[in-house]
Amino acid sequence: MTESPAAAAVLVAGSANLDFVVRAAHIPAPGETVLGRDFRTFPGGKGANQAVAAARAGGAPTRMLLALGDDAHARPLEDSLRAAGVSLDIRRQAALPTGVAFICLADGAENAITVAPGANAALAPDDLPALDGVGYLLLQLETPLDSVAAYAARAQAAGVRVVLNAAPAQALPEALLRLIDVLVVNEGELAMLVGDDGDLIAALARLPVPCAVVTLGAAGCMAREGEALHLQPAFPVEAVDTTGAGDTFCGALVAALARGDALPVALRDAAAASALACSALGAQSSVPARAQVQALLAGAGDAPGRAALAARCGLAA
Ligand code: ADP
Repeated sequence: MTESPAAAAVLVAGSANLDFVVRAAHIPAPGETVLGRDFRTFPGGKGANQAVAAARAGGAPTRMLLALGDDAHARPLEDSLRAAGVSLDIRRQAALPTGVAFICLADGAENAITVAPGANAALAPDDLPALDGVGYLLLQLETPLDSVAAYAARAQAAGVRVVLNAAPAQALPEALLRLIDVLVVNEGELAMLVGDDGDLIAALARLPVPCAVVTLGAAGCMAREGEALHLQPAFPVEAVDTTGAGDTFCGALVAALARGDALPVALRDAAAASALACSALGAQSSVPARAQVQALLAGAGDAPGRAALAARCGLAA
């Protein structure tokens, strides 16, 4: 879809980290040292990954509010975002290092991640820029919670739709959840918010938001929109690195909603983009372009696995 002048912009407010990635046979257990193989750095951070995903999905201009240090790690993060077409609103923190993440990537595509937030921790409640032309604000939890809540409140008051990816998992005040239009969580994050009794539909119903999506890795996702439930199986791919799958899902989902797509169409787009993101290394570097997503969607029909996903969600297929 081409960008129309009237397309609502997506504003992402969140984290940017430089990812230091080592591949290894397995993730070390506590106290264990594992001899890894190749080492590479990749631009990452949930906010920046989601901004790149929204921009590459196309159709809606994408902006990002982020905080960076004044150091060598900041440059590749700015370059990656700009190359994807994201307009940047940078709060430069001279006294803090740019955020970094240490990622051990196991051969089975599992990962273990430690984040040092650095400058991200200084993103302040009054840092949100003017919201003119913004249709959707996309937030995550790698920046301070009081800032996330302040941005959500300002956006809601301005009539901007607020999407929260409640990751990494943490308990949230109900007052914050009540500001959210669309909540995106994985299973662990959902359990952290509303408990886990094995019933995903009941868990989604307990969230005080009009629309909630739970992503289920290679199984796909389920969404509750009001009273309606939508299932979207994952597209099968040979997964080499699932880092950034959830971020790609969120960015592609919000770009589709900002283009005016209905939720089931946006979920299918997000599933295709995130599947493709699993088949290449890195977070931002693995986010597919719109043309790749469209090619997968055109050739795929419905993703297989609907019956298995329905059973997992406690529904008849
Ligand atoms: P997170 O990375 O936040 O934990 P998930 O693992 O649930 O999120 O993945 C988010 C989405 O990415 C899934 O809903 C699915 O569409 C897609 N995805 C994840 N893993 C795979 C996979 N192995 N194959 C295909 N798609 C995947």
